Amino acid sequence: MNPHFSFELQATDPVSGARAGRLSTPHGSIETPTFMPVGTRASVKALTRMQLLSLDAQILLSNAYHLFLRPGGELVAEAGGLHGFMSWPRPLLTDCGGFQIFSLKDTMRLDDEGVSFRSILDGSSHRWTPESNMKLQQQLGADILMQLDVCVSHRAELPEVELAMQRSAAWARRCRVSQDNPRQALFAIVQGGMHTSLRLENIARLQEIESSSSPFEGYALGGYSVGEPHEVMLESMAAITGALPPDRPRYLMGLGNPTSMLASINLGMDMFDSVLPTRTARLGTAFSSEGRLNLRNARFARDFSPLDPLCGCSTCQHHSRAYLRHLIQSREINAAVLLSEHNVHYLLDLTRKARAAILAGNYQDFLKDWYDSAASADY
Ligand SMILES: [Zn+2]
Repeated sequence: MNPHFSFELQATDPVSGARAGRLSTPHGSIETPTFMPVGTRASVKALTRMQLLSLDAQILLSNAYHLFLRPGGELVAEAGGLHGFMSWPRPLLTDCGGFQIFSLKDTMRLDDEGVSFRSILDGSSHRWTPESNMKLQQQLGADILMQLDVCVSHRAELPEVELAMQRSAAWARRCRVSQDNPRQALFAIVQGGMHTSLRLENIARLQEIESSSSPFEGYALGGYSVGEPHEVMLESMAAITGALPPDRPRYLMGLGNPTSMLASINLGMDMFDSVLPTRTARLGTAFSSEGRLNLRNARFARDFSPLDPLCGCSTCQHHSRAYLRHLIQSREINAAVLLSEHNVHYLLDLTRKARAAILAGNYQDFLKDWYDSAASADY
């Protein structure tokens, strides 16, 4: 196993698969379960590094596709990697950018060797292979790199999903072979849509790769939270988590709504990311103990109570719903800042509480209280 990374399982819920763990990286450790705020272009929208540090975000996520287009991997490497460029002292993860490329559809061409695409910025042509993507992510210098994978729509037919899974698995091998910097961890991505047999085959192929080269430091689940119903996702996940190696962190990609996150933790997921808290904040919406609040609503115009009376974040300590609504209506930048701070705090705090409950051995009670609360309507 890589000496720069280790994952210690600290507690497992006896009833479900919920786990509490600690992932050590060269930039510090990450206590799981955890939520990772997304800074797609090396910046979490509307939040400064000081705010993210005071929110105690343990790890941030960035995106290799967007950084490849601008400012480019070489420039970031010259700045000392993303840690130096963003001035972020804690762990970082870069997503490979596959999801973004495969969303381009018309301007993307895929074959067994790699993928060709045009820049959304200037139309220039580019080609990525698993090897060139690893080189890019090595230049970006995050602690955790994601393999280049092949993503398909959740509406894709079985043959297309199967081909994508086969290519993803073949690319996982090529990424594993070319990612040889021990100070960077490589996470494999399991694809296969909602087809249990494909997902299980993908996991088996990843384990074959490990036996002939070196282990993946973590396993991610891709292709969930892409528009399928919450129950369908959970059912699919429940059927495959038992096949994942228990001694590796498990990252559910792109999921950030509170109820789905807690249900996924119950199935043994450890890491989450989503643009949901910052995107909804910019739209004037806040997570809360009363469910999601749309502050544009006129009923908040004279509501001088805190945004969420049960929240300990700085926004809720100082500002009323009426004030926040006024900022949104007046298109003040601070509306996005204050709501983003609250929403990111909300998810970080929720995963911290989930972790504490797992460590205390009462995650099932915690989950029951959640489902009994008004907040659980939100997914
Ligand atoms: Zn708050």
